[in-house]
Amino acid sequence: MTMTKIPLAGVIGCPIAQSKSPQLHRYWLQQHGIAGHYIPMHVEPEDLADAIRMMPKMGFVGANVTIPHKEAVMGIADQVTDRAKVIGAANTLIFREDGSILADNTDGYGFITNLHQGAPNWDPQSGPAVVLGAGGACRAVVASLLEAGVPEILLTNRTRERAEQLRSEFGDRIRVEDWIQAGNIIEEGALVVNTTSLGMTGKPRLRVPLDGLRQDAVVTDLIYAPLKTELLSYAEEVGCTVVDGLGMLVHQAVPGFERWFGVRPEVDADTRAALLA
Ligand code: NAP
Repeated sequence: MTMTKIPLAGVIGCPIAQSKSPQLHRYWLQQHGIAGHYIPMHVEPEDLADAIRMMPKMGFVGANVTIPHKEAVMGIADQVTDRAKVIGAANTLIFREDGSILADNTDGYGFITNLHQGAPNWDPQSGPAVVLGAGGACRAVVASLLEAGVPEILLTNRTRERAEQLRSEFGDRIRVEDWIQAGNIIEEGALVVNTTSLGMTGKPRLRVPLDGLRQDAVVTDLIYAPLKTELLSYAEEVGCTVVDGLGMLVHQAVPGFERWFGVRPEVDADTRAALLA
């Protein structure tokens, strides 16, 4: 007797309890009447390779990967997509029927799709993008902005070397400026992106002077807790178009869900509401 397998997916991290991904994927599974499951999995770094290799044998069709495993997973997968290679990290695994594991990165896709959805009039070629921060998430932001055709990225980070490193990898459309100059370079931004953790609940405030923000700028924050950061509140008051970080989280999940469960989920107000519930 052949039994239909129930497809499993999940998110691997350490810690993992904070992840909103289970809530999101379960919402979509239910919405589409799919008999699958999406599970949060706490896996220690030393167990990562063993855990991932076991998963296809237990009925998993794929998984998301989060901090601190996004880089390590690239060495465990059999194949890594070009965009994951460019970013230097993977957040989505696909377990193929032949038993091989593909690692992809959908953070850049999530970022840029959220930006286009939240600021439909934003034209990437309209002017420079000012990017605050140079951490892990910033790499996906920079890669996707360059791919979208942004003429120049003004990049500033507390630790300048990390920004210089991104410039050496991503090329001379990136201009690195000192962190102390952040308030000045903001004046040049047709787009301003906060990729630092400053302004997040429980973290220090983003103390960059914002009075130079252009009224016609689009301002976005990767942080989604709080949903409206001080940066976004200020930018909105000035008249900028603002895009919060929740949409990035939602959009980056779409390609994985589609590959694993065979349905491309919609990202709309109801999806956001389900996550905020
Ligand atoms: P990360 O790799 O740890 O990078 C943190 C960044 O914040 C670095 O640029 C760091 O600068 C800067 N920073 C931290 N504390 C600072 C301080 N006191 N003063 C100045 N700069 C400071 O983290 P990440 O993974 O890139 O994540 C960054 C943020 O994006 C987090 O809030 C995360 O929740 C959010 N995020 C959101 C999504 C989404 O889907 N919306 C996806 C990924 C990440 P240094 O290099 O000098 O340390």
